[in-house]
Amino acid sequence: MATERTFSIIKPDATRRNLTGAINAVIEKAGLRIVAQRRILMTQAEAKIFYAVHKERPFYGELVEMMSSAPVVVQVLEGDNAIAKYREVMGATNPANAAEGTIRKSFALSMGENSVHGSDSPDNAAAEIAQFFCGNDIVG
Ligand code: GDP
Repeated sequence: MATERTFSIIKPDATRRNLTGAINAVIEKAGLRIVAQRRILMTQAEAKIFYAVHKERPFYGELVEMMSSAPVVVQVLEGDNAIAKYREVMGATNPANAAEGTIRKSFALSMGENSVHGSDSPDNAAAEIAQFFCGNDIVG
């Protein structure tokens, strides 16, 4: 299995409820290493770029608003098969459909306020990491 890096965001609904540590514990227990991490207040412009793929969707405005409504924690996670592994650890987009033990099953509030983001492909992981981190920020 290849060592990969993926991009993660602990979203505003989770930082508001002081769940950063609890979510990081699930990430680390799954064998993923947090190799870079920063708490930021995302601007609306940054959120628009980040979720540009969804710009035609009816929830886009709400999504951009939500992502810039409170601090988020942006992270780079590393491990074997990290992209697919983290998607598994996160659980389904809609927490009602998420498997037991996943982050979204344990913590998410709704389809929109679903506590975490994780990249869905190697290309997106590379682009998303590059939006928020530069090489020297990631120390392995
Ligand atoms: P993900 O890869 O599992 O995060 O899911 P998507 O890429 O399909 O959607 C991106 C994000 O948009 C989700 O994590 C949600 O925060 C939000 N989202 C997706 N679908 C809906 C929806 O129907 N309503 C709202 N309010 N937000 C949504």
